[in-house]
Amino acid sequence: TNFDDLKISDEIKRALEIMKFSSPTEVQAQTIPSAFNQQDLVVKSQTGSGKTAAFGIPICEMIEWEERKPQALILTPTRELAAQVREDITNIGRFKRIKALALYGKEPFSKQKEELKQKTHVVVGTPGRVADHLERETLVLDQIKYLIIDETDEMLNMGFIDDVEKIIQQLPDNRVTMVFSATLPEDVEALCHKYMKEPVHIEI
Ligand code: AMP
Repeated sequence: TNFDDLKISDEIKRALEIMKFSSPTEVQAQTIPSAFNQQDLVVKSQTGSGKTAAFGIPICEMIEWEERKPQALILTPTRELAAQVREDITNIGRFKRIKALALYGKEPFSKQKEELKQKTHVVVGTPGRVADHLERETLVLDQIKYLIIDETDEMLNMGFIDDVEKIIQQLPDNRVTMVFSATLPEDVEALCHKYMKEPVHIEI
């Protein structure tokens, strides 16, 4: 498989060339077509498999640039991962001028509040801080079309289930949900069962 087979636009392919991604990894080859079909996905894969671009590429392709409110929400267990994912999305979407913002604790709330007044296509954040912004109404998620939960097993191990559910309940029902996890323990399966629509299962 190459990126042409996956029907990636020239704008994104140019960005991938700069990142030295010459061909898709296995998780990318399997995930991207289903994401383009707007299917809910449960992807079991390890860190290092290229999972960030597996959701980052289709998200960047499907973002509508003109829309001001966030269209994609990516939840990560840690702030380091949130910062990394934001950077990857910015790089993949550079020629589409995709605006991604990272929201996590330890950064001043007021600075994030100001940033959220600007056009933002993609929000990447930890559950605690995202829930905080929702509660204070500094973040509006009524135009979210794509929810990605990254390292879901890790996130639930860290005790974020209440924040994750609080956030999901604020999202439009007609969204696409993608869950990425290295393992699929019972709590992850239960979350998928509760909030996903006939997900396709991909295992790498
Ligand atoms: P991830 O699993 O998303 O953390 O990615 C692991 C590493 O693989 C990162 O350093 C990526 O930059 C790199 N990577 C992801 N996709 C590709 C690709 N298609 N070709 C080459 N490297 C890649």
